[in-house]
Amino acid sequence: MSRALPKKLPTPQPNPRPFAYRNRTLHCDGADLTALATEHGTPLYVYSAEQISHRFQLFDQAFANRPHTICYAVKANSSLAILRLLAKQGAGFDIVSGGELERVRKAHKPALKKVVFSGVGKQLWEIDAALDADILLFNVESEAELHLLAARAEARNKVARFALRVNPDVFAETHPYISTGLSEHKFGIDINAARAIYRKAKKSKWLDPAGVSVHIGSQIRKVDPFAAALTRVTSLIADLRKDGHNIRYIDAGGGLGVDYGPRLSGSAHFDPAKQVEKYAAALTKGLAAESSHLLLEPGRFIVAQAGALLTRVLYVKKNGTKTFVITDAGMNDLIRPALYHAHHEILPIKQPTGKRPTKNKATNTEEESSEEENKVDIVGPVCESGDFFARDRALPPVKPNDLVLLLDAGAYGMSQTSNYNTRPRPAEVLIDNATTKLIRRRETMRDLLAPEIT
Ligand SMILES: *Cc1c(COP(=O)(O)O)cnc(C)c1O
Repeated sequence: MSRALPKKLPTPQPNPRPFAYRNRTLHCDGADLTALATEHGTPLYVYSAEQISHRFQLFDQAFANRPHTICYAVKANSSLAILRLLAKQGAGFDIVSGGELERVRKAHKPALKKVVFSGVGKQLWEIDAALDADILLFNVESEAELHLLAARAEARNKVARFALRVNPDVFAETHPYISTGLSEHKFGIDINAARAIYRKAKKSKWLDPAGVSVHIGSQIRKVDPFAAALTRVTSLIADLRKDGHNIRYIDAGGGLGVDYGPRLSGSAHFDPAKQVEKYAAALTKGLAAESSHLLLEPGRFIVAQAGALLTRVLYVKKNGTKTFVITDAGMNDLIRPALYHAHHEILPIKQPTGKRPTKNKATNTEEESSEEENKVDIVGPVCESGDFFARDRALPPVKPNDLVLLLDAGAYGMSQTSNYNTRPRPAEVLIDNATTKLIRRRETMRDLLAPEIT
């Protein structure tokens, strides 16, 4: 008897902008960011729980017509409160280290059985911990790793379910640092070599070839490469079935991009719901008749736009023709501009009045209103010229002590922070139903110096 799959539910009403002006000052959902800065200090990461849930639901509903598990990519934002929020909604997790495994365990222990473990450099202790946690699937990235996995499974008397992460040699247009699907990249196993490796693996009773996995990169805006990669994977699966393997999972990876461009209140071009639909349609095309349980590993798409970094202006200074706005957040708090030349929209906390230059009738010259935007560099305090958030950016005039907000910082923001320059990491707050929860306190000097031996 075949079980009827749930009908596609109506798409939930999008709230594409959790950060918006209310009474001319920026809020996150119901929370006034000025008050948050006063209470918790800056730099401060602020997240909207509603937006995170909304994005997860968009994904879930887009794939409602086939069996699937959304394994949120922990590395995008690994805060325990966010992992717990997603786990409660049924998320599984894509992890890339034993540390991330511990985070899932701590956030929501039952979610361990929905964990897939990716990464090119898994260590023995990490494999052991994942075997003991009885995770869903190891995404194996080399033949040597497969040997180690078999040996550790035998040592622990467990059968390891695995998928080979294949490299489909598909080009996805994105920043070179986050493109992974070409044979020149370190990720995955040449798709043409995979069949032979599965054959060898079949000889070990400690290995269960349960799936095939693929991940072609991150911040991919066009969906065609996803379809192309899956077409290659489904054809491999057909061969594997011929060879007698019981393939039950197809892991399509993550990588769906978001719009980091300007999208102030009123602009309508940004529609995450449509993006997910296009993505789901592309995957469906690539999967054709393949009906394995689909695993998805979105990270950025779920959390990027739900988060922002709130920072205070320390100084405004001019060097020659350039104006620098120096903030209390630096590249150690948000490295994306320095690392990927990423664009983040930057908004002053007080909404500009929007006056345009006015003609001075007496002199017939253009007079700049005090609100006229100036091109400035917004930079941090770290001793590196790469420590910038924006260069030659039009920004309404700001002065020391003003607050500014860096948008779309929910993914690869906090998770890529460091203590460079011996700077404590920011605190994080989660706005949930108009209540504000401190989900990570600011680090102290004591935290920073604790591991050192003098
Ligand atoms: C980073 C990563 C993801 C998530 O990528 P996003 O672009 O954040 O969706 C998923 N799977 C693997 C294997 C990854 O390395």
